[in-house]
Order: sequence, then structure tokens, then C-alpha cells
Amino acid sequence: MKLIQNYIDGRFVSGKSEFADINPADGTVIAQVSEASDGQVNDAVCAARGALLGEWGRLGIRERTLRLHRVADAIERKFDCFVRAEVADTGKPVSLASRLDVPRAVANFRVFADLVKMSGLESFQTETPDGTNALNYAVRKPLGVVGVITPWNLPLLLLTWKVAPALACGNAVVVKPSEETPATAALLAEAMQDAGIPNGVYNVVHGFGPGSAGEFLTQHPDVDAITFTGESRTGAAIMKSVACTVKPVSFELGGKNAAIVFADCNFEEAVNGLSDAVFLNTGQVCLCAERVYVERKIFSSLVEALKRKAEILHPGWPNDEKTDLGPLISAQHREKVLSYYKLAGEEGATLVTGGGVPEFGDNRDQGFYVQPTIYTGLPESARCVQEEIFGPVCHIAAFDSEEEAVAMANDTKYGLAASIWTSDLKRGHRVAQQMKVGITWVNSWFLRDLRTPFGGVGLSGIGREGGMHSLNFYSELNNICIRL
Ligand code: NAD
Repeated sequence: MKLIQNYIDGRFVSGKSEFADINPADGTVIAQVSEASDGQVNDAVCAARGALLGEWGRLGIRERTLRLHRVADAIERKFDCFVRAEVADTGKPVSLASRLDVPRAVANFRVFADLVKMSGLESFQTETPDGTNALNYAVRKPLGVVGVITPWNLPLLLLTWKVAPALACGNAVVVKPSEETPATAALLAEAMQDAGIPNGVYNVVHGFGPGSAGEFLTQHPDVDAITFTGESRTGAAIMKSVACTVKPVSFELGGKNAAIVFADCNFEEAVNGLSDAVFLNTGQVCLCAERVYVERKIFSSLVEALKRKAEILHPGWPNDEKTDLGPLISAQHREKVLSYYKLAGEEGATLVTGGGVPEFGDNRDQGFYVQPTIYTGLPESARCVQEEIFGPVCHIAAFDSEEEAVAMANDTKYGLAASIWTSDLKRGHRVAQQMKVGITWVNSWFLRDLRTPFGGVGLSGIGREGGMHSLNFYSELNNICIRL
């Protein structure tokens, strides 16, 4: 059986114990994973600190960014290997992993390597009333050792979204990938070696959250910052954990995102967009829409059209090119999603389609599939309308006015993303500006430019990453004032 090991100071090392890496498509064990001990997390942090004092800390920006491009080259050389590992770990369709996850990992290294070279110095000429002149300029310095903690839904994409800008700024990282999806973080270690990234710059510790590698990392006094993507309540636990060492945090957390569909939309485009927004990656994207608000005039036709879309989705083996719906990540997560399917009924929902588990008559019945599901008829206060489910499911409600649509969409403790579907561009701008979220799409969804700010408000996170926002988080400014 394959063993996925920790990667510390340029070496693969076994841990204090092992846990199983499960293929969600059929429940089989695909690898054993070494769980890092407290001491090994400490070793990883010390290795990262050491790397900052060594060659990595002395590299100029030209050479550093060149090596990050080499990491991108190394991922591209092993593209199929990364795709296979991601598909086996997550159960996501191979078409998605090869179109989105792995290409985005490559892009993360290239974009941030290029961007950091363009981040100039801030400078101010100062003149005081008594005639003293001074020149201020701010130099950007790495934060130091950054702890990177990531989830299972887009494992490589989200890990590299943080690792690439952190390294571009000259930091060293200790990453703790999700216990559900450890494989691509380990493959990335090989790409780092191939690219000539010095030992200790990129370290991987495997394990869980509380009482394991995740918590050891957040509590470590020599970790300078934590960047985290995951559930909101995990964010809250990490915030408590880092409080005593006052570490900066960047949090990308959960969502309960709304889509607002006006009657004047391009109907076909809206239905296609919504189908992606609700069901892509089996609904396991933080940006997915679980609440759809539709102008009453087109409510029935839209519900019917989205139902048809849900029913033609092909739940299949992840490696089949025709598959567009994979399993959920784990038995535990399927239990959670199915508990919401049940709760929706108890809360008085009308089931439009789905609501259960598909039957295949083969090994996929031991996997963690659920049916894509649509509900209507719930009050806005229902738990199924308020709580993040993180599955291929949405609730559709009707509205009569723009004001009502905005109020319903904003009636949530989360605030990650929204999408608006309308042919009236003025309305698109007007409504978009009223959304209490970090990112709003008009007539699109998940259209991302890595230079743009990304993050959420409320329970959806703290701070923004993307473009200069990432570089701002992963660096410290030291203002130098020179009297002239
Ligand atoms: P999770 O919070 O359960 O786990 C995320 C990571 O945190 C894992 O590596 C886990 O081991 C670690 N962890 C758990 N408890 C910890 C603790 N106490 N201390 C330190 N580390 C700990 O999230 P998940 O189930 O892996 O991912 C799904 C969630 O992530 C959803 O809520 C989703 O919306 C969110 N998400 C958000 C974004 C975004 O950009 N806003 C992107 C993707 C996923």
C-alpha cells in the first residue's frame, strides 16, 4: 500500500501513526498517510525558519520568481500525475480536475511570481512646517514562517493559491493539507525539489485539526502567520488558538451564497450558469449557490428548467470523461448532506428533484454519492436556507421586487459571493453594489481573475487574497524615513 509521508526540510518522513486515504467513489483505501507528531510539526517550523536564514532568504527577487516558474513547469511536466492524484483523493470528475484544479495550480505560481516583480515601493516626500524635509519609503519584507491550512474541496488549487504568493514574497511555509486529500501536497513537494526550491522552504505535515498537526501548527510560537481556508467554525477555533501569539490571519471560510434571477435575464444563459453554480464539484465549492431567488414571473419555468438540468447530470466514475457529477468527499460529509435533505422535508419543503442516493449496482454503491437536489417552499428562516450544506443542492424562492430580492439575498450571516442574472446592466450594477459579500458576478459565476480581491464578509472570512491583496498579506512593510 502506498504511504504518503510528511515532507520536512527536503526529506519525506514517516509520522507517529498512520491514517487511511479513502477513494470517495467506492470507499476503498488508496493510501496510508503518515500523521505528523507535535515534534515533527516543530521540526517543520524550525526547518522553515532555517531556510529563511539560508539561501532562500538571500535570493534576489529575479532568481526567486524564476524558481517559482520552474515549480509551475514541474507541475506541467507531471500534469497527468497531479490530475490522477486529485481525482483519486476527491472523486471529482477527471474533466474538472484537468480543466480547473491543476491548470489553476500552475497559474497560481506563474501569476504571483510575475506580480511580485511589479509591486513597487511606496514613497512619500515629507515637508514639515519648520522646513524639515524627509524621504519616506516602505520596503516589503517577508512575514517569515507561514502556516497554511487547507480544505479538501479544491485541494491543490487552494493550497497553491496560498503557497505561491507566500513564497513569491520570500516566506517559507509549513502546510497542513486536509486529512481527506493529502496526495497533491506531497506531489507538490517533488515539484519543489525539481524546481530547486531549497530544503525547508516548503514543508508538509499531515494530520487532523484539534490535537493534531493543524492545532500544533496554529499554536506554534514560531509561526508568524496563519492562512486558512475551511469551515467558519474551524476559523473561529483557529482564531482562538492564535490569539495568545497575536499572529496575523487570513481566513477564507464558508458561504451560503445567493443567486438572483430577474425575469429580463437571458433565460438559457441563466439556467446554464445556475446549473454550474449549484452543482459544480457536487456543490462542494465555497462559491456555490445554495439559495436561488427568482422573479415570480419566471419562477415556475426556471424551477422546471433547473430540474431538467439536475436530472441530466451524469453521476459516474470520476475517471470517466462523461461524468459530470462525482461523489461527496466522505461518508461523514454524505451523512451531513443527507441530514439536510431529511431536515428540508421536516421543515416543510417541496422536493422538486433528488433528495436521496443514486443506485448503481456496482462498487459505486460503496462510495459517497448523493442525488442533485432542488427544494422550494421553505421560509427564509429555515435552517436549510440559513446553514451551509456544501452539497449539490439549492432552495429556490420567488420574489416580486428588486428590493425584496436584495433583502432576501442579504439575510444571512455569511457573505462570500453572489450572482445576479439580468439583461439590464444598470440594475446589474445597482444590485451588485448592495450585496453584502466579497465577490458578486453579473451574468456569470466563478469567472476568476487571480489579480482581483477574493474573500468574504461576516462568517465567510477575514481579509482579502488575490493579486496585490495576497502580496500585502504575505509581507510586512517597513517604512524608512530619511531626513534630508
Ligand atoms: P474544515 O474547516 O473542516 O477543515 C479545513 C482544514 O482545517 C483541514 O485541513 C483540517 O484538518 C483543518 N482543521 C480543522 N480543525 C482545525 C483546528 N482546530 N485547528 C487547525 N486546523 C484545523 O473544512 P473542510 O470541511 O475541509 O472544507 C469545507 C469548508 O471550507 C466549507 O465550509 C467551505 O465553504 C470552506 N471553503 C471556503 C473557501 C473560501 O475561499 N472561502 C474555499 C473552499 C472551501
